[in-house]
Amino acid sequence: MTKRPEIVKFASKNDLSLLNEFVNLPNWTGKEACLLVEDLDFFFSEFPLDIALAKDICLECPMMVACRDYALKHENNGVWGGLSADERFKLRGNKEAIETHEIAALIQEKDYIMLKPAETIAEAYDVDTRTVARWRGMIRDAQKAS
Ligand code: SF4
Repeated sequence: MTKRPEIVKFASKNDLSLLNEFVNLPNWTGKEACLLVEDLDFFFSEFPLDIALAKDICLECPMMVACRDYALKHENNGVWGGLSADERFKLRGNKEAIETHEIAALIQEKDYIMLKPAETIAEAYDVDTRTVARWRGMIRDAQKAS
């Protein structure tokens, strides 16, 4: 059965500049306040008291602003930069973040589809080469928009 590549689905809805955000990881210093916590499970808890405790730790952290900016784009779970997952979801306009592992996979798939011979891609996805050309056009258009 034909499988539509994730990068093609992504390119049909998004500006591909979002993938460039992958390189903008915070410059972690090793002085993050949460590194002093032995068990970080409560940062990923659903309980309000745990969330409040995690947020208090973030308030003491020298990386809070950079951590929050990063997590707004790339983290769907847990307290990061003093914000809960729900707060970040709302700030994003009720949208999921694109997590860094997803971005890495999308970049890899984009390079594969754009750089390998069309026949190889057609065989891998069980489509004809015209479909590969159409996918490449969609990816190019989404790149131009960025
Ligand atoms: S702001 Fe980020 S790095 Fe700092 S304590 Fe909170 S989660 Fe950890």
